[in-house]
Amino acid sequence: MPREQLVVIGGVAAGMSAASRARKLNPQMEIIVLEKGRHVSVGLCGLPYYLSGEVSDWKELIAYDADFFREKRGIDVRLEHEATAIEPGRKTVHAREGGTREVALHYDKLVIATGGAPAETLPGADAANVFTCNDLPGTMRLREFIEREKPRRAVIVGSGYIGLEVADAFVQRGLQVTILERSDALLEGIEPEIAGRVEAELLEHGVELMKGSAANAIRKNANGHAIAVQHGANGRHEADLVLLATGIVPRVDLAESAGVQLGPTGAIAVDERLLTSVNSIYAAGDCTEVRNLVTGKASYFPLGTTANKQGRVAGENAGGGNAKFLGVVGTLATKVFSLEVAKTGLSLQQARAAGFQPDSVTLTSSSRAGYFHGRPILLKLVWERASGRVLGCQMAGQEVVAKRIDVVALALQARMSIEDLLHSDLSYTPPFAPVWEAILIAAHEAQKKLRS
Ligand SMILES: Cc1cc2nc3c(=O)[nH]c(=O)nc-3n(C[C@H](O)[C@H](O)[C@H](O)COP(=O)(O)OP(=O)(O)OC[C@H]3O[C@@H](n4cnc5c(N)ncnc54)[C@H](O)[C@@H]3O)c2cc1C
Repeated sequence: MPREQLVVIGGVAAGMSAASRARKLNPQMEIIVLEKGRHVSVGLCGLPYYLSGEVSDWKELIAYDADFFREKRGIDVRLEHEATAIEPGRKTVHAREGGTREVALHYDKLVIATGGAPAETLPGADAANVFTCNDLPGTMRLREFIEREKPRRAVIVGSGYIGLEVADAFVQRGLQVTILERSDALLEGIEPEIAGRVEAELLEHGVELMKGSAANAIRKNANGHAIAVQHGANGRHEADLVLLATGIVPRVDLAESAGVQLGPTGAIAVDERLLTSVNSIYAAGDCTEVRNLVTGKASYFPLGTTANKQGRVAGENAGGGNAKFLGVVGTLATKVFSLEVAKTGLSLQQARAAGFQPDSVTLTSSSRAGYFHGRPILLKLVWERASGRVLGCQMAGQEVVAKRIDVVALALQARMSIEDLLHSDLSYTPPFAPVWEAILIAAHEAQKKLRS
């Protein structure tokens, strides 16, 4: 009897987690991974640090290579294989090998893990000195360009966390950086107080942030090189290199043309077992939408942390097990120069938009006991007025902010109230936290407001 066959499309966080989990659970299963690129298991989150040089060799970003999966896990990884069509009726995936040879593969179970793609491009973006930082080959080209051409001025279009992390890397490389941001705030969904702290950090490191400046075209010279970015009605910024960091959108063409249903966000809709609308087809990672556990609604949060967990769940189910992925609360951390910025759940404005009647407190506390001279932590906590339910938190500071946020992330997941948070048994020792830790002070202030 032929062995049951799992085909996974996409070989990064979600895809390789799915393949590995299915293998662990089901040693008999035939597992094939189709990856259109030349590497699998690439740590994309490390790309900005590869650009800055903090990670010197790109190979350090590969958690395990294709041979490891083939030899140690018995997974048939096929590089430079692009899946081109899925025929659910015949349980067949069509792929193009090395750009030319067509192959057709039978599947019993299929996991779609095709990730996301850069959100937008601009007229003129085909110039050789216009880059994105969304995959390894593009980022390698960008680093080579910086090292070879020694550009002076960079324009970054978009001030999401990738734009900011790359701005940091560019400054470390000696570039003069301007960020063009279409909206009037950086880092979508950030509280104005936290945004102010990030802007001060950018300014301190010489980065020019131009808010309300929508880039609309890249100007090229006669040789086809980008020389400036045009923005707004008649703004223009000279550039030796341009980075497009306008966010990512789910890569869903393949799924959609196979009849897989998309959700309201435009990403693939999945149930708790990560099954799509089509029998035997699962989806995981940046190509899917997730349930926001705070609002209860479908959302799009393309993050590695989610992709890895979803991949594991999809792989478990495809391999014959029974696992669930319930959703996310929307936790993100990033580093902008010496500043750690972190958020979880909803901002005050997002909470209002989601139909809550929220309240908030903003305060500055310290990362350590007074006599240990800690660093200031700016924190904003949001809760629902009527129930006292914690809805969100954001922080900025130079010490243990990115991990401190996890306390509130768990509180959100457990649907804790301000009262619950106030009585949380958080650790205390002078070198690492004051006895009244920032989160506890915020909960205390919130409690006062709730009682008033
Ligand atoms: C610069 C940067 C920094 C980041 N930092 C963080 C961070 O700090 N924290 C965090 O949580 N997340 C971070 N992320 C996000 C994280 O990297 C992604 O969420 C994660 O990689 C998603 O994994 P995925 O497997 O769903 O998709 P992807 O990583 O996009 O992988 C999808 C793979 O599918 C392949 N593919 C697509 N279509 C086909 C096809 N038709 N046939 C075959 N193969 C195909 C692609 O080539 C790609 O290799 C960062 C991302 C970037 C770019």
